[in-house]
Amino acid sequence: MSWTDMALNGRILVVDDAMENIQILYGALQDEQEVLFALDGRRAIELARSQHPDLILLDAVMPGMDGYAVCAALRASSETRDIPVMFVTALKSPEDETRALEAGAADFITKPINAAVVRARVRTQLTVKRQADALRALSLTDPLTGVANRRAFDERLVTEWRRCARAGLPVSLVLADIDHFKMYNDHYGHPAGDACLVQVAAALRRGAGRTHDLVARYGGEEFAILLPQLDAHGAEGVARRLQDELAQLDLPHAASPTAPRLTMSMGIASQVPREGQAPDALVVSADARLYQAKDAGRNCYRGEAPQG
Ligand code: GH3
Ligand code: MG
Ligand code: MG
Repeated sequence: MSWTDMALNGRILVVDDAMENIQILYGALQDEQEVLFALDGRRAIELARSQHPDLILLDAVMPGMDGYAVCAALRASSETRDIPVMFVTALKSPEDETRALEAGAADFITKPINAAVVRARVRTQLTVKRQADALRALSLTDPLTGVANRRAFDERLVTEWRRCARAGLPVSLVLADIDHFKMYNDHYGHPAGDACLVQVAAALRRGAGRTHDLVARYGGEEFAILLPQLDAHGAEGVARRLQDELAQLDLPHAASPTAPRLTMSMGIASQVPREGQAPDALVVSADARLYQAKDAGRNCYRGEAPQG
């Protein structure tokens, strides 16, 4: 995306209790942005959750929930925390401005609206938002394989663990480690090893494709597959699919004592999390089973019941 494209075609949510104000802002922005609108604070929060706008233009003074309350509510929720808010208001004292900024607003413009000023300010905020989004995506992605990195896994494990604790649902985890990968590198060279990791990551993604599933590079040649809302039985099904996907890659590993093809070993753990309990036990348990699978001769998985 070029520098100028970064500032255009964003999704902007305009919130104002007066329809004529919404129309003015819509008129100023419609040629270069997608504009959604809400006439009150509650609807604004709903739309922020469901439509993921890039920026919210928020009227400070509204009946019922005012702009400051809306801003505080958006900041309090992890789903909407990162959406920048620009206050649009007739109030123009330094105290009003300070209050808006302290409520978490990124910027502040005063009525009457000047269309050119609004357009320019919106472009600036959109560019900043997109740069922040790009940085965040980078910080959560493994550069070699393109799957989630360890940091993304740690974050998601905590959020899914809490979500499933509240819902009384199980969380499953598969730890998958490539067998004899050091020998692969020694035999084929490190660049070939890298290419192999890229293919394995893609295969794991094909094997664990539900919306909430997360494939992450846990470290080196070890991957973590997080399976929220899936019990031990379901997780074993996924583990078998992962093995199938790897088998279909059919990557030669001439130096492996286990098989002439690349294989991996997996440990599976499942648990219905209890509120207040840390997810570490799930990782420890999957790791212990991964070692059982290695001990059992590799190229297999170990879960609740010894099989595979
Ligand atoms: P095991 O079957 O017991 O898991 O044996 P292993 O050789 O796979 O395990 P070990 O932990 O001894 O070696 C892991 C190897 O993975 C060593 C390391 O060089 C390699 N590796 C880790 N990260 C990368 C990477 O990013 N690229 C490449 N090419 N190799 C990597
Ligand atoms: Mg290994
Ligand atoms: Mg390893």
